[in-house]
Parts: sequence; C-alpha cells; structure tokens
Amino acid sequence: MFDQLRLLVRLQAMDKTLFDLAQERDVIPGRLADLTQAEQALQNELATHQAQLDLLLKRRADQEEIADNIRARLRRAENRLMGSKSTKEYQAANAEIDDGKDSLKDNDSQLLEVMEQVEALEQKVSALGQRFSELAAASKEERGQLEERYHNVDSEISRSQNKRQKLAGQVDKALLKDYDFIRQARDGVALAAVSEGVCTVCHMGIPPQQFNELQRMDKIMSCPSCRRLIYWAEAEQLKQDL
Ligand SMILES: [Zn+2]
Repeated sequence: MFDQLRLLVRLQAMDKTLFDLAQERDVIPGRLADLTQAEQALQNELATHQAQLDLLLKRRADQEEIADNIRARLRRAENRLMGSKSTKEYQAANAEIDDGKDSLKDNDSQLLEVMEQVEALEQKVSALGQRFSELAAASKEERGQLEERYHNVDSEISRSQNKRQKLAGQVDKALLKDYDFIRQARDGVALAAVSEGVCTVCHMGIPPQQFNELQRMDKIMSCPSCRRLIYWAEAEQLKQDL
C-alpha cells in the first residue's frame, strides 16, 4: 500500500501542474477576445466620427456652392444697377443687391459654424485614428505573445498528459478510480497532506486516533472533512517524491 501512496503523491503533483497549466491556457482565448473587442469598439467610435465628419464636409461644400450662386446673382444685379435706365429698374436692382447681401451674410455665418465643427471633428478623428493605431500595434504584439504562450502551454500539457498516463497506469485500478472521482469533484485536488494532525487542503483536524493510523502508512485513508485521500506530510519516505 505504501508504494501506491507514493504513486498517488507523484500523481497529485503532476495533476496539480496539469491543472495549473490548463488554467493558464484556458484564460488565453478570453484575453484574445478582449483585445479584439477593444479594437472593435475604438474602430466603431472612429467610424461614427468619420461619418459625422463626412456629413459636415458635404454640408460645407453645399454652403460654399450656395455662396458662389449668391455672389453670381449679386454680380448680375450690380451690372443691372449700372445699366439701369429708369428709377424702377434701379430700385429693383438695388433691392436685389440688398437681398443678396443679406442672404450671403446668413450663409456665411452658417458656413463659419460648419467650418468650426469640421475643424473640431477633424481633430477628434485624427486623435482617434492615432489612438487606434497605437492600440492595434499593442494588440498585435500581445496577441502574438498570447498565441505563442497558448501553443507552448498546450504542448506542455500534451507531454505531461502522456507522462501522467504512464504513472496512472501503475496505480491500482480501484484506487485510481476513487482518486479521479474525488479529483474531479474537488477542484483537481484528490490527495491532501496531513501535517501535525491537520488536513492541509481543508484545514480541518483529523482525530488523534486516525492520525496515528495515518502515520503507519499501511492503508489509504480519507480526510473525514473534505473526503480527499490523505497522507502524512512529515513522512520522510514520501518527501523525496515531492
Ligand atoms: Zn481535508
């Protein structure tokens, strides 16, 4: 039975490593998704602002065209004013000039407002574009590191699983079945060391009589509190396996 206990101690150490490796590997896809999401969010923000800017640029072009039309109308009215042959013609041309000047003034003030908005939005788009390139570069680097890490950890897991398979093959079948059952039900830890009468995993005390039995190491025992298989932590014969 002592040999079986030694095997379990080694198996548990290996399973703990495997458990930690799997945890390290399994958080990587989530982190990769976070990176993509952050990039996507910034890209959407950039696209929204760019679309607003495009609209404003269109409005600016429209208003510039309107201004050109008003100026052309003003020039024609001024020509008519110069060539007017009657007071009526003169007054009509003059009224059109006044009207044109008012329209131009209104349009210019609107144009100025649009130009200010364009300028502010151009700055915003440019800053967002800068932020996006920085984020994309940092993401690319981190993504590369994460993918490499994932690959390495995954290979390490495969190698360790082969070793684990060989070791598990030496454990008594019924005992291995118990061990694996407890391991799956207890967060990957099926075997607990008992040090100075206390289970080091659940931190509950073992009755003195049971602790004495445990120290004899001639049978496999369970923690009365957490039900994990237990061994005596201070056993010199087991320390070399840790
Ligand atoms: Zn326990």
